[in-house]
Amino acid sequence: NDAAPGAERIAVYQAQSDQAYQRRIRLARDLRYAAQHHELSAVFQPKLDLASGEVRQVEALMRWQHSQLGMIRPDEFIPLAEQTGSITMLTEWMIVAVLSQLRDWIDRGIHLQVAMNLSARDLDDPEFPRRVERMLRAQQISPDYLALEVTESAVMRDPQASIDSLLVLRDLGISLSVDDYGTGYSSLATLKSLPVQDLKIDKSFVLQLAENSDDAVIVKSTIELAHNMGLRVIAEGIENAGSLAWLKARHCDVVQGYFISRPLSAADLERWMDETRGTFV
Ligand code: C2E
Ligand code: MG
Ligand code: MG
Ligand code: MG
Repeated sequence: NDAAPGAERIAVYQAQSDQAYQRRIRLARDLRYAAQHHELSAVFQPKLDLASGEVRQVEALMRWQHSQLGMIRPDEFIPLAEQTGSITMLTEWMIVAVLSQLRDWIDRGIHLQVAMNLSARDLDDPEFPRRVERMLRAQQISPDYLALEVTESAVMRDPQASIDSLLVLRDLGISLSVDDYGTGYSSLATLKSLPVQDLKIDKSFVLQLAENSDDAVIVKSTIELAHNMGLRVIAEGIENAGSLAWLKARHCDVVQGYFISRPLSAADLERWMDETRGTFV
């Protein structure tokens, strides 16, 4: 009798972790068919250039609308896809989606650079850069319309292979960014060796920027470090006017966050750009 409450808690915990496990198994399996079942889509979040007040770039982010389980967030399915190997297929799906969106925009006189996220496996694959080159050529899209975002941890899995791939991609004329900067374990030496143009400060340092003095110190020094290394700085996770003003005063180059806009479908993005051009600076 004494042990009953504890045992009950353990039973509840086991039921929950069992459920979480079952969900992971199911998602891992269904993910393999998500593309064929037309359950994937791309949304686009504007990146605001603070000097000009213009949006010239967007980040493409993947969405998975599961037929029974509803919308699954990338923070849940991307790590699963990385573990199971489905990520290669998801990246391929995303490149096709981004390039066909770009083709459509360019044909209609809309000139935006689109960034997409890569995973460690994409960077470790020595064929990847040439595949991207072929796909750009097939759609007749100039490489400077495309940007690729890589995290420090993705690079660190196989730094040499990653840097080799990044060099080829950069030489093609594709823009490269380090994503989620500050959350990984790479050194300044690694950062220095990466052939990137942009450094994206992780949103965990930006969300409470105006209220948290530790975050403010980190972001301020990161902006200075990046500028001294000749990199452009992008801050993600701008949720209020306070952090926007703060970043502008400290010469951050580009901002991205819910305060500017949430990620939008292509049609909603076009409407948003028509309506809000220039209101933020
Ligand atoms: P990320 O590349 O760092 O993308 C930024 C994430 O922050 C996005 O989440 C975006 O919706 C969210 N975000 C933007 N502004 C704000 C803000 O003001 N406040 C808050 N709280 N969040 C904001 P999302 O779309 O859920 O994606 C999460 C992560 O999943 C991405 O982080 C990226 O690492 C990964 N991901 C998304 N799409 C892809 C993809 O196509 N391929 C790969 N490999 N990874 C992807
Ligand atoms: Mg990103
Ligand atoms: Mg990020
Ligand atoms: Mg992230």
